[in-house]
Amino acid sequence: MYLYNSATKTKDEFVPHEAGKVSMYTCGPTVYHFAHIGNLRTYIMEDILDRYLRYSGYEVTRVMNITDVGHLTSDADTGEDKMLKGAKREHKTVMEIAKFYTDKFFEDCKALNIRRPEVVEPATSCIDDFIRVIESLLEKGYAYEAGGNIYFDTSKLKQYYVFHNFEEEDLAVGVREGVEEDGNKRNKADFVLWFTKSKFDDQELKWNSPWGVGYPGWHIECSCISMKHLGEYLDIHCGGIDNAFPHHTNEIAQSEAYLGHKWCNWWVHVLHLNTNSGKMSKSKGEFLTVSLLTEKGYDPMVYRFFCLQSHYRKSLVFSWENMDNAKVAYNKLIARIATLKEDGDVDKAVFDAQKANFIKALDNDLNTSLAVTAIYDVLKADTNGATKLALLADFDKVLCLDLIENAAKLNAEKSAETEAVPSDDPFIREIEALIEARKEAKKAKNYAEADRIRNDLAARGVTLIDTKEGTTYKID
Ligand code: AMP
Ligand code: ZN
Repeated sequence: MYLYNSATKTKDEFVPHEAGKVSMYTCGPTVYHFAHIGNLRTYIMEDILDRYLRYSGYEVTRVMNITDVGHLTSDADTGEDKMLKGAKREHKTVMEIAKFYTDKFFEDCKALNIRRPEVVEPATSCIDDFIRVIESLLEKGYAYEAGGNIYFDTSKLKQYYVFHNFEEEDLAVGVREGVEEDGNKRNKADFVLWFTKSKFDDQELKWNSPWGVGYPGWHIECSCISMKHLGEYLDIHCGGIDNAFPHHTNEIAQSEAYLGHKWCNWWVHVLHLNTNSGKMSKSKGEFLTVSLLTEKGYDPMVYRFFCLQSHYRKSLVFSWENMDNAKVAYNKLIARIATLKEDGDVDKAVFDAQKANFIKALDNDLNTSLAVTAIYDVLKADTNGATKLALLADFDKVLCLDLIENAAKLNAEKSAETEAVPSDDPFIREIEALIEARKEAKKAKNYAEADRIRNDLAARGVTLIDTKEGTTYKID
């Protein structure tokens, strides 16, 4: 598989540290509000990567943090604490807010078929790990104490910027964010590992540390949680593109300074979901959630389908018109699948050729839009229903669009409708009586009679369709 690596800026052949095994770390949500569908685009695409690696035979161990402390409204060390902001807004404690929005996040993931990682770890449960790593960074000379806080000293590194080459001027975060710059920092790019001089007197979550009562910076949590569960060598680290700088850049700085060697090989970044007025963001307050989509009549699968139609390295524009198009396309697709029947044996040659097509698409840096095209190629293929259904079930192990389940649901709904409304049309009543008679004939193993009824109806322009849920019909 070829996977784009933001660190090398090339599509490289994916090779894990240990043959057959992949360690994967995903930056989790900051749980001070609902996840918006932009955040969820990132989690959907990471889910595809996770599932595709499993589909390709790798044993994947995936870890995700839950940010419940330390993330300030600026990704640098300025602004208000996001969790505190959420708690104030809802007149609750920080831990109540964290619990509520963590549960909501996983409900959204479930609705979107996003697999829960093997390990999900809140930052607040790893404070001792953070302190241990920060102590070691101080000992090694990579960190310093100033004004009561502990900072990482970026001037100690040969190369700090991994993903981009920023000018010092770009890092005038204080100016950019409209808040005062931190005068304790020796270098503009330095970042906080541990706060004791909190700007917020009402900071709720505080812990004892060798440097006084305080709380961790945001970046240290991902390095420590990843190393705790996945060891010193990480295969893949993912996140949205906004995480590349400063968050991931700082993670690399502190992890490699601590370990004394290279830490993670692959950096996978998902581009943003934007609206016409710019990036969808929680801090702007106006954002769309999965529940809102559902209320407006969009199955969460339609959103997943919408995301898969474009490549993860291109930004995606959300509009209701685009959602409507995705809904029409998804429903049509399900209706086509609903007409397929288990009508014989799977044609292995066709199966292998179509599957190779699907693999080729995903092997090329997770080209999900071509993988979706592979579904339509299956539907158009010159083969029987059984082969098509087997292929679609196979592709759906990765795409997870509920293709087979929703097609069966549609068929069940259709037959329930036919059963529910007794028709006053004599022709319809006759068809239904004959379907019933055919069912009885089959039960009595009188297949000749059952076939006679089918052929008789066919001669009158009525095609019978046998499904797992019963027999429906089509009038020509
Ligand atoms: P947060 O909860 O703000 O820490 O973000 C959770 C994840 O969503 C991170 O990986 C972000 O990079 C990602 N993210 C934030 N905004 C967007 C967006 N508009 N589109 C896609 N991903 C996003
Ligand atoms: Zn992170």
